[in-house]
Parts: sequence; structure tokens; C-alpha cells
Amino acid sequence: MGVRNPFYDWLRKAPDELVYVQSLQVVTTTLQDLSDAEIDWIAKMRARGDRLLNISDGGLGPTGIAWTEEQREAARLRATGRSIPPRFGADNPMFGQTHSAEQKARWSEARKGTHLGAENPNFGKFGAAHPSFGHSMSDEAKLILAEQRRGSLNPNFGKTTSAETIAKLSAATKGIPRPKSKRNAHTRWHTNKGVLKPECKYCVEDSTQISTISINDATQEGLTHD
Ligand SMILES: [Zn+2]
Repeated sequence: MGVRNPFYDWLRKAPDELVYVQSLQVVTTTLQDLSDAEIDWIAKMRARGDRLLNISDGGLGPTGIAWTEEQREAARLRATGRSIPPRFGADNPMFGQTHSAEQKARWSEARKGTHLGAENPNFGKFGAAHPSFGHSMSDEAKLILAEQRRGSLNPNFGKTTSAETIAKLSAATKGIPRPKSKRNAHTRWHTNKGVLKPECKYCVEDSTQISTISINDATQEGLTHD
């Protein structure tokens, strides 16, 4: 298609024999002078009532054209490099359909081994160098993701782990000492070591119990002294 701008679009549509080029002014001094000359010419032609293709006032750089939200969105979509913009919900041709197991296997095979190790764009990027550094999802965004995986929408919904998978998991974790439960881990790593973690629900539970006891003790003490 070539260059897309109002001038080229007009040029492609216009019959060749009716297009001619006329020089309005020759500017040989500076780029700024040329830019000023363009602004002058556009103003002059507009005042005369000529229909111009220039929508801005001309000159160098952006001159007062504020994009609408639609234009911004269109530019954003163009910038993603897609030939077809993403279509959501019922607008998507795959809406309500699923890809066949064969097709999925083909894609899986094609992707195997890609973006591994140094080929991964984020390979070796840690801390501030990582693109998601300092990025945290809003509770609303998290909720949207959670809703998409809840109940029957969860890929594991209604499935039970096969004996084969359980055996695999068991073999993979064999010999690694693990506490029997979260409560057990809390006792081992927090209570016994005198650590109090606000993100551990047992630490929170214990601390409220302790403070309740101490409040009761204090009250009882007070009563005895009265
Ligand atoms: Zn704890």
C-alpha cells in the first residue's frame, strides 16, 4: 500500500493527468525558515478558502493537534504490530469454540525449547532490571484473574491427581524434610525461634491469644487489688 498519510492517500486516488506540482516558495536558508514559510502558506491558503490536506497549522513538530481517545487507541493497536486487532468475547471468531487436541499438541511441539535460558528476553534480569520490578497488581486486577479460574473455570476442576502423578511428586520430594502442616511449620520456624511474621495466620492468631490472656490477667490483677 505504501505510505499512509492524507497526502499520499489523496495522490493515489487522484487521476494522474490532474495532479501537478507547483512550487510556492523556495527557502534555502534554514529549516526553521522553511517551517515558518509552511505555517504562513497554510494560513494564507486557508484564509482564501482553499481545501487543504494539512490538518495541523504546519511547521516542524506537532502543532496543536490533540488526538482523540479513538485515535490514541487506533495508534496503540497499530503499534502492537498486529495486522488484526484483538477481538474479545463474541467478536472473536474462536468464541465458544476450543482448539482440537491435535492442534494444541502441534503448537506445544512448535514452542518446545523456545524462550529457554538465554533466549528468554528476561534472562538474567533481576531486581530493578526486570520489567515487572516494582509492579504490583491492583486488587481489582487480581480479582478478575481469580474469577477466570474459579470453580468449573479452573483447568483442574473435577479432576483428581492420578496415582502416576502422585508417585512422581512423591519421588521428586523424597528426602526433603518438610513440616507436616502449616501449623507445624509455624511452630518450628516462628514460635520456637521467637519470630513473629504478620503474614503468617498462626502468628496473628497466637499474638491475639497472648494479648487477650494478658488483658484478662491485668483485669484480674486489678480486681484483686480492689
Ligand atoms: Zn507463624
